[in-house]
Amino acid sequence: MPELPEVEVVRRGLQARLSDGVVRGATVREPRLRWPVPAGLGELLAGRRLAAVGRRGKYLLLELDGGTLIVHLGMSGRLRIFETPPPPARHDHVDIDFGSALLRYHDPRRFGAMLWHGESDGPLAAHRLLAGLGVEPFSPEFDGAMLYRATRGRGAAIKQLLLAGTVVVGVGNIYASESLFRAGIRPSTPAHRIGRARYERLAQAIRETLDEAIGRGGSTLRDFVDSDGLGGYFQNYCYVYDREGQPCRVCGTTIQRRHDQQRSTFWCPRCQR
Ligand SMILES: [Zn+2]
Repeated sequence: MPELPEVEVVRRGLQARLSDGVVRGATVREPRLRWPVPAGLGELLAGRRLAAVGRRGKYLLLELDGGTLIVHLGMSGRLRIFETPPPPARHDHVDIDFGSALLRYHDPRRFGAMLWHGESDGPLAAHRLLAGLGVEPFSPEFDGAMLYRATRGRGAAIKQLLLAGTVVVGVGNIYASESLFRAGIRPSTPAHRIGRARYERLAQAIRETLDEAIGRGGSTLRDFVDSDGLGGYFQNYCYVYDREGQPCRVCGTTIQRRHDQQRSTFWCPRCQR
């Protein structure tokens, strides 16, 4: 599943390749994504210029004249840009034609989304999919003091709270495990038991971890935008994620793993307390 770093890599690719382009039309071969793709998408988008590509959490925001196309890659979505598009293959559900380039959405499992939010629909930040999201990890609002405030009275394990996305967005399973290792915090620690100084370290660790993953993804970006494989690539550099039974890279202690709620948690019992 694409995580925030992968989505950010895609955003940068789209921004570099498509911004300032004008949509000529769109073809929808399969509207049944997680929610239906708007009927008449081609007529809706035709003639609109793409001013910029933004991101909120894992939502890509194609900022067009008069509104925003909200795109989510779901579990298996991919966006690719073609100058000379090959014939559509299976699961190539939507094409958006920018004249000199074609943006193609491919999604075997169809948990992704493509929704239109017009200027007359109100502020984008109030959109039902965006309104409940936590702060962006690279925004100035995100720091240790903010994490400390947001976790007072919250007895849930810090890792679960990070994954929920309501305090801070984009810290999926790999990145939560790695950030907590770097900050020296055990994943099962109740969030309200963590003090301000440790939250300062955690905020820093989250930004560094995500930034590294984005950097590694960015270096593999070539002619097309592709969200595949970055998580796997990043995993080669992990301290704890997927390293059960192996020695900690810092202290040599055996990395532990616990499985709960369909997710695995990895930690070093010596480095993380
Ligand atoms: Zn260790």
